Amino acid sequence: MRSHLLNDTTAEHYRSSVTLGVERVAARIATTERPFTGVTVDALSPRVDGIDLDRPLYDTTAALDELEDVYLRDAVYFHHPRYLAHLNCPVVIPAVLGEAVLCAVNSSLDTWDQSAGGTLIERKLIDWTTARIGLGPAADGVFTSGGSQSNLQALLLAREESKTEDLGKLRVFASEAGHFSVQKSAKLLGLGPDAVVSIPVDHDKRMQTVALARELERCAEQGLVPMAVVATAGTTDFGSIDPLPGIAELCARYGAWMHVDAAYGCGLLASLRHRDRIAGIERADSVTVDYHKSFFQPVSSSAVLVRDAATLRHATYHAEYLNPRRMVEERIPNQVDKSLQTTRRFDALKLWMTLRVMGADGIGQLFDEVCELAAEGWRLLAADPRFDVVVEPSLSTLVFRYIPAAVTDPAHIDRANLYARKALFASGDAVVAGTKVGGRHYLKFTLLNPETTTRDITAVLDLIAGHAEQYLGESLDRAS
Ligand SMILES: *Cc1c(COP(=O)(O)O)cnc(C)c1O
Repeated sequence: MRSHLLNDTTAEHYRSSVTLGVERVAARIATTERPFTGVTVDALSPRVDGIDLDRPLYDTTAALDELEDVYLRDAVYFHHPRYLAHLNCPVVIPAVLGEAVLCAVNSSLDTWDQSAGGTLIERKLIDWTTARIGLGPAADGVFTSGGSQSNLQALLLAREESKTEDLGKLRVFASEAGHFSVQKSAKLLGLGPDAVVSIPVDHDKRMQTVALARELERCAEQGLVPMAVVATAGTTDFGSIDPLPGIAELCARYGAWMHVDAAYGCGLLASLRHRDRIAGIERADSVTVDYHKSFFQPVSSSAVLVRDAATLRHATYHAEYLNPRRMVEERIPNQVDKSLQTTRRFDALKLWMTLRVMGADGIGQLFDEVCELAAEGWRLLAADPRFDVVVEPSLSTLVFRYIPAAVTDPAHIDRANLYARKALFASGDAVVAGTKVGGRHYLKFTLLNPETTTRDITAVLDLIAGHAEQYLGESLDRAS
């Protein structure tokens, strides 16, 4: 069994074992014809259930064969150009290489004595990101497990900076198209059930600053405390970007912490052509970025950035066994002093390898391509009488709905769209997402794959229309 420990005597086993796995994945990726096989839960669960974990195979090849059966064959493949569903990107190879290195070396980024150079690499990437945002000389931040955790940490800092003991008085303002992690964070932070004030959006799904001003004024009048405004730079559904400069003005006027949730829109930080779309982000007190969305990084890779490094002290606790206070005086960089996590992956290495091999422009170019594909997709949808499309994209999502000419009952149209999404998933030909707009069911393309073409878009729209028509035909048959 000791031969399975990675050490000086097992380097060859490590090399051959990992190579076997890499070869399986490479073969799969090279031959995937559809993003999904359409396997059902009922078909797949007996295969997983049938494996007795207390009876090992004692063989790597056999374990990989078994893995083909329970996972690799039926996985949902984000690299396929017809995977158009959620905010998952195809990953860039330098980042995958970084992942392979980081898990084998297995540094933990909580303390310098568990990571050394890893700590410095992470810090340099944080500085690189804050400079791209324009947060100024006192900025800092830390890598996190994802946008949800970044939002939680940012709001924790905002809560502490509000210096308000009566948590029931705190209010957080976010647009109705903001991410649900804002509500979850408010709950975790002990705020009251009414703490998150939902601000209406305009026609383009951007927060209405007039409505925000009104709510901030009301908050002041009622003697409540405007703890934070969460501006979303790239809403999950629409990619819409809240008017950051106007929001920054209001935050300054009412003394609210400005958090920019750029989990999705952060790709613009590397963009060569559309950086101006997030102008105003430099005025934030804190920013969430998800490199695992628009920087083409494998999950997880995310960070929270702050304008004032000193605010990170609200996440600082000292433990004698880990990061005693005296280490601060000794100037030993322990990243755990800034993090909600303790043991923490060296996710930063993936971005490091990406920037060293491809450069930021390489990433920005890929993101620009998907934004332009979305703009083209919008033109196609807007010109297609079979579909209603919601907003012209600022990033790379398209929200639309099949609208049959002969059907007027909106509930019936809802069912046709729900059916089309399910049927498409079951066929495995393409994977699309869904959401609700104005109480009605819509479909969504999240375009993060530069390999997706307008031909893919038209083909998937035809498939959707075909499934929806089939549903409507059948439901008419049933009715008659
Ligand atoms: C995806 C997303 C999040 C959450 O990020 P995770 O990495 O999934 O935790 C937060 N905000 C927005 C706008 C997002 O799109």
